[in-house]
Amino acid sequence: MFRLFLLCVLSALPHLVAAAECPGNANALGTERVLTVDPAAVPRVGRKQFPTTLPLAPNEIVLTFDDGPWPATTARVLDALKSECVLATFFLVGRNTVANPALARRTLAEGHTVGYHSYSHPRLDQMALARAETDIDRGFAAVDTVLYGAAQSTPVTPFFRFPYFASNKGLLDRLFERKIAVFGADLWAADWIPMTPAEELHQIMQQLAVTKGGILLLHDTHRHTAATVPMLLRELKRRHFRVVHVVPPDRRLADLAKP
Ligand SMILES: [Zn+2]
Repeated sequence: MFRLFLLCVLSALPHLVAAAECPGNANALGTERVLTVDPAAVPRVGRKQFPTTLPLAPNEIVLTFDDGPWPATTARVLDALKSECVLATFFLVGRNTVANPALARRTLAEGHTVGYHSYSHPRLDQMALARAETDIDRGFAAVDTVLYGAAQSTPVTPFFRFPYFASNKGLLDRLFERKIAVFGADLWAADWIPMTPAEELHQIMQQLAVTKGGILLLHDTHRHTAATVPMLLRELKRRHFRVVHVVPPDRRLADLAKP
C-alpha cells in the first residue's frame, strides 16, 4: 500500500528532462532544475513589484505565461515548450479556463505548473476587499474544478498573480494569511503592446542582459508572443541561460494522487 502511495506521489512530480534527453531534439534547451516555492517562506516574489525575488543563480530564468488558456495561441506556446523540453508556469484566468478546459488540462498534463490569475481579470485593487477576494476565489474554484474535478477553499497550487500586478495591502495581507504566494515579475517584454516577434525577442534579450535572468512575464494569449517563444527558447540556449521550473510544496498534489 505504501509503495503504491509512493508511486502515486512520484508520478505527481514534474518529470524533468535534461537537454540531452529531449526526444527528437538533441540540442534542446531543457529544464535545468526544480525550485520548490513555499509560500510560508517566500510569500511574494518579483523585483518589479516587491523587494525580493526567487533565489536564482545568474543566468537562471523562470518562464511564466499569463491570461490563458486561449484558443490558437496557447497550443502553439505549449508545442514550443514541449519541443525544447522546457517547463513553465501558467497563471490561468478562471473564465478562460472554463471556456477552454482541454487546453488547461493539456498544460497540466505536460508538466507545467498551473497558478491562478483571478476569475475575470479585473483591477482587484480598485474593488472592495470582499468583492475582490470573491473574484480571486472564483478563479481558484474554476481552475481547480476543471483540472482536478473539485475545488476546496484553498487552491491546489498556492501561486497567484494579480491582473495588471494591481494589488493592495489588504489583499496582499489576505493572501499571506492564506499561505498563497504572490508572483510578480523581474522582467517582461511589454507584449501587451502589438509588436513583431523580432521586436519582442529583442526586448526580452535586452532586459535579460541587464537582469541576468529572473522571472519573465509573457502572455500566451497573443499571436506575436506565440510566434516569439520558439525563437526565444533557441536564443536562451545560445546565450547559456538555464530554465528553472517552480513548483509548490507537493503536499496537496500528493493528496490528490492518493488512490
Ligand atoms: Zn493578466
